[in-house]
Formats: sequence, C-alpha cells, structure tokens
Amino acid sequence: MDHTVVWDNCLQTIRHSVDPQSYQTWFVPIRPVALNSNELTIQVPHRLFYEFLEEHYIDVLKLSLNQALGTAGRLQYRIKPSRQEPGAFPHAPKSPAGKPAPTPSNPFVIPGMTRPRIESNLDGKYTFDNFIEGDCNSLARNAAKAVADNPANTAFNPLVIHGPVGLGKTHLLKAVGNRIAEKFPNKSVLYVTTDTFTNQLVSSIGNNSTNDLVNWYQNVDVLLVDDIQQLINRKKTQDVFFNLFNVLRQNNKAIVMTCDRPIIELDIEERLRSRFQWGLTADLSAPALETRMAILAAKASANEVNIPPQVMEFICYHIQNNIRQLEGVLNNLVLHSGVNQGKEIDLELARQVLKNFVTEINREVTPEVIQRTVAEYYNLDVEKLASSTRRRHVVLARQISMFLVKQFTDQSLKAIGRMFGGRDHATVIYSIRTVRDLMETNDDIKKALEELERKIRAGHGEHPSTKW
Ligand code: ADP
Ligand code: MG
Repeated sequence: MDHTVVWDNCLQTIRHSVDPQSYQTWFVPIRPVALNSNELTIQVPHRLFYEFLEEHYIDVLKLSLNQALGTAGRLQYRIKPSRQEPGAFPHAPKSPAGKPAPTPSNPFVIPGMTRPRIESNLDGKYTFDNFIEGDCNSLARNAAKAVADNPANTAFNPLVIHGPVGLGKTHLLKAVGNRIAEKFPNKSVLYVTTDTFTNQLVSSIGNNSTNDLVNWYQNVDVLLVDDIQQLINRKKTQDVFFNLFNVLRQNNKAIVMTCDRPIIELDIEERLRSRFQWGLTADLSAPALETRMAILAAKASANEVNIPPQVMEFICYHIQNNIRQLEGVLNNLVLHSGVNQGKEIDLELARQVLKNFVTEINREVTPEVIQRTVAEYYNLDVEKLASSTRRRHVVLARQISMFLVKQFTDQSLKAIGRMFGGRDHATVIYSIRTVRDLMETNDDIKKALEELERKIRAGHGEHPSTKW
C-alpha cells in the first residue's frame, strides 16, 4: 500500500464522521506525502490548519488511521513550505529537500559577547539523589524520574508539577535535566523559566528574529519550563508557546513544566490549558513532620553541620509549609553558631533564630498588601474597602480583607476596624465569622480565598501585567 491509498482509506472514514462543509474545508486540501512503515506523513497548507486539526479533529484522525493502518498507525504533519505567513512558525527541523537547516542563533548568548554556548542552564546542584521522598511528593518525584529515564518515549507528555512555593518544584525540574544530561549526553536539555522565555521573545520581536528563537527551541530534545503561571496576562507568549509546544510534542520531545497552581485554575487560553492536561499533572503538597525532619537532616549533613535531634524537631515543628524557609533557618543557625565562635547549636539558639526568622517572614505581609491584593482581585479601588458602601460585592471584598488581615498579621480587632473606615470590633468579628462560614459552604469563595492567599504569600500579589 502506498501513502495515497492509505490516505484515501482514511478519508473514507473521515467523510462519514464529519459534516460535508468541514470535510471540504479541512480534509480535501490535505496531501499525503509519504508512508514509512506505519507512519503516514500528510502535508497541510499552513500551521493554523494543523492546529485546527489537532484541536478539533484529532479523534477522527486517530480513528481513521487505526482503521487504515491498525493501532500502531501514526501521523506526521508537514507544513507546505512555500506558503509561510510572515512571522509564522517554520515547521519541524526536518528540511524537506535534504538541505541542511540553518543553525538558529542562541538566545541565551547576549550578542557581542563571546561566551560559549550555554548548554542547558543547569548547575548540577539539584538531583534525585538529594531530593527526599515522602508521601507529599512521591507521585511527582516518580513521574519526573520516569521522564528522566526515558525522555524519548514518555507516557507523561507534558508532565506538569504543581504546588505552592518552596516545596521542590524547581528542584525536581532541574533533577530531570541533570539526570538526562548524565544518562543521555547526546540529548539536548534546556531549562528555562517562563520569565526568561518571555524576555527572549520580547527582544526577538524587537529585532525581528522570532523565527530564529523558535527554531532554536525546536532543536531541544527535552524542554524544562519553570513557573508557567507567568504565562498569565501574556497573550503573545502564550501564542508562541502554544506553537512551540505543539511542534515539540509532535516530534516526541519531552516537556516538563512547573506551576504554582493546578492547571485548571491557571488563567490562560483554553487551547493551551487543555494541552497542558494531555500528559500527567502531579502535585507537591506540604511534607509531614517526618519528611521535614529527613530533609533538614539531609541538608545539615550536606553542610557538615551537626544539629541535635530535639533541635531539629523543634525547627520542623514550627516551619511547616515551605522547605526553602527550613533551609533559611538552617543557614541562619550555622551563621549564628559561627559568629559565636562555634557555639553549639542548641535549643536556645534555635529558638532565637526562629523567632527572628518568623518575624521576618510575617513582616512581608502587611495590611496594605492584603488590601491591595483583594481590591485588585475584585476589580475595586482600594479606597472602597474603607468606604461606607454597602454594595454586595464591596461588602464581600471588605469582609474577606478583614479576615485575611487577621490571619496574616498580628493586628488587633480594633486596629483592623480602624483601617477599614473606623468600623467597630464587633463588625470585624462578624466579618471574620461570615467569611469562615462562607468558606465551608461556598466553593467559589473557598477558591477565591486560596487564590488570594497564594497571591499574598507571593509578596505583593501580582503578576506583571505586561500583555506579552
Ligand atoms: P519551588 O520551586 O517549589 O518554589 P524549590 O524547588 O526551589 O521550590 O525548593 C526550595 C528548596 O527546598 C530547594 O533548596 C530544594 O532543594 C529544597 N527542597 C524542597 N523539597 C525537597 C525535598 N523533598 N528534598 C530535599 N530538598 C527539598
Ligand atoms: Mg521554583
């Protein structure tokens, strides 16, 4: 059987599954170009075409291919070379006429500087060996390991690791990269944060080299993208990333990403969000006391510091939700014991360090930060929170703000009442209670609060509002 016969057979199936108009628009223009054992290559007129097929007709295509070639049948797309729109995505690296593809310039090298080409952006520090496994992270860790052990053929593509700050997302992502670099030296692995990618894109637009940038990224075998929540509000980055994602996945390149929230809660274009869910998403949650102890013990021993078990327990008991803070305490302890001429690390020293540290953490969250975050979330002027307005959604925002100020700061009820337009402390109590009740009965409010807490913890709360 040759490719035309196979495609004709596919068309028979497709014709019965889609309406005539769609058939005419989306399938008649396709040309079969090659059949390589069980892989059929078809040519489509331009990239939007391919995206549309993937988005709307992937099931029909699969079904038709199964019937024509059996379940092992696979499909490759090729974009018709002559019809590239300006700024469009030059498709897969395969050069059709056997011409060598031009080497795209490396966006990680600043022009004019003779730095060697940066291979992966990995520093070898974060590995699977120094990642402590616990119930809180075992799915994510094992999935990451599975990708690292078999990047060319992973069932989890993409793998998305999500969870709050300081729980090891970046660590795992880099561990994947480091392991692949070690096991498969011929594979090109690239670690990049979403912010870096955005900046590269912005400057490539500035000097008309977006195609180069995109070509460069298409050359990687494994793409590790950190903090994809930074895609929020960046329309152009989402567009370009969408295309890159499709090309990489289409070419069986592994993609691993991290995010500070579940993908369903990620406010990005639907087509991108749905693709991010094609593989596996695994979450990291706060580690149990034993796991925190094991992590702290490992870090202490890596730093050749001796910490008595009861001190360790004391620290881990107090720092529950963030491993980075646990490390912060450890570093402070080492520092203090060093300053005090090698003073032994005892409970007293730990207490002192922890006290400073916790104050430091809490100081970052002020009532103003909370008010600003809530106002922004509900699209209100911040002054409205202190006004006498009794409009429903203002009242709700005000009550939520009070609740969060109580939760995050050590302001008294009286002081809280004062900062919300001189309300008395009974009103504050009532507000806090109302929010607490709502959280239990109303899923939307519960979600809103989770989102707000995340934003507040992240510092000043907001993602950059650039529209890239
Ligand atoms: P995130 O990217 O989720 O904010 P990171 O990956 O930067 O968090 O982790 C913060 C710190 O905590 C890092 O230094 C990392 O090594 C450490 N860490 C987190 N989880 C673990 C773990 N399970 N075992 C060892 N270290 C961990
Ligand atoms: Mg991180």
